[in-house]
Amino acid sequence: MTTKLFRHAHIYTPKMGPGPAAGAAQAEVAEWRDGSILVEDERIAAVGAAQDVENKAAGKALDEEHDLEGAAVIPGFVDSHTHACFAATREGEFSMRLAGKPYLEILKAGGGILSSVRDVRAASEEDLFHFSRRLLKTTLHYGTTTVEIKSGYGLDTETELKMLRVIARLGRETPQTVTPTFMGAHAVPEEHKANPAGYVTLLENEMLPAVAKQGIARFCDVFCEEGVFSVEQSRKILQKARTLGMGLKLHADEVHDLGGASLAGELRAISAEHLLAASDEGIEKLAQGGVVAVLLPATAYSLKKPFARAQTMIEKGVPVALATDLNPGSCFCQSMPFVVSLAIMRMNLTPEEALVGTTLNAAWAIGMEKEVGSLEPGKMADFVVLDGESPAVLAYASGARPVRLVCAKGMLSE
Ligand SMILES: [Zn+2]
Repeated sequence: MTTKLFRHAHIYTPKMGPGPAAGAAQAEVAEWRDGSILVEDERIAAVGAAQDVENKAAGKALDEEHDLEGAAVIPGFVDSHTHACFAATREGEFSMRLAGKPYLEILKAGGGILSSVRDVRAASEEDLFHFSRRLLKTTLHYGTTTVEIKSGYGLDTETELKMLRVIARLGRETPQTVTPTFMGAHAVPEEHKANPAGYVTLLENEMLPAVAKQGIARFCDVFCEEGVFSVEQSRKILQKARTLGMGLKLHADEVHDLGGASLAGELRAISAEHLLAASDEGIEKLAQGGVVAVLLPATAYSLKKPFARAQTMIEKGVPVALATDLNPGSCFCQSMPFVVSLAIMRMNLTPEEALVGTTLNAAWAIGMEKEVGSLEPGKMADFVVLDGESPAVLAYASGARPVRLVCAKGMLSE
């Protein structure tokens, strides 16, 4: 066993409750001014006030001792919404958007998601792995120790299964914890353009059973949006996924208020994501259904759109998580500190609310709350040593990387 002791840490961590932190609990963060963390192999053995941890460490042979000199330490970021498995960037399309072309028009013209689909179908499994691993390495550098990755650039059974194999391999061959989500309902592929209903049938009868048999995906996600999948189609796909044992996620009310948030509430999905256009009624339904709202401020930033109504959601009792949405199109953001910065400066969350949203609530949003998201004995030794005194430095040093050290599964990187 490898034992490491970290001393003189100013620790900030959410604390596990019976469910995701909603309402006032979104801002509840425990703090130890002179804290220590004892790590055994990949897990936290003890964490908290220095003397308590020293008592637990007494008599143990320490392989490493680190003096953190009073730096703020937070749980490793949990990026609960990414599409970080792809084969090529789409910088050219970004320039088109900057020139004023709306995203749904780019999609109609065969760009957007569909060009990534062509790239991923053409890429070898090995190339797809190496491209995606490079992205994950950058996210780790910025403090992401857990990442949810969605498939959805295959849109046929074979390529979706290939993507999920690559996502599983990323989990085995990086220090990060990776949660795989099947998102065959990310767009209607070109070959089904004339008959989208036929693609929904294919999803239900062939793709979902094949994905369940493969056994990698924990969740099924659907892009419920005008011109993509309707509320009715989304409901059918998610209900089928539920019968196959998958957890449910939904891209809801990103561009138009179709009632996606209400659907997520009705189905008691684990999370509803984006929600830029969610109505008051939709927000009520999320609260009633205990659904985590996964908000993606870097996407709104990148699309030059108003941010989701995070404060209203917190007031109404919806647990809020915040993620990058890392993808080749609408948002090529690899930095959780940037997401925290936007949440504080543009969505008016407090540093504490943003911290809970990027750690423990995010872990709840991907069913990983028992393993990651807070600093507690038994959980993964995932934490970030900040270059500052408090989590507020993430917004104070906007655009920089106020990260001194990242510990993922007990492994350190600078
Ligand atoms: Zn997404």
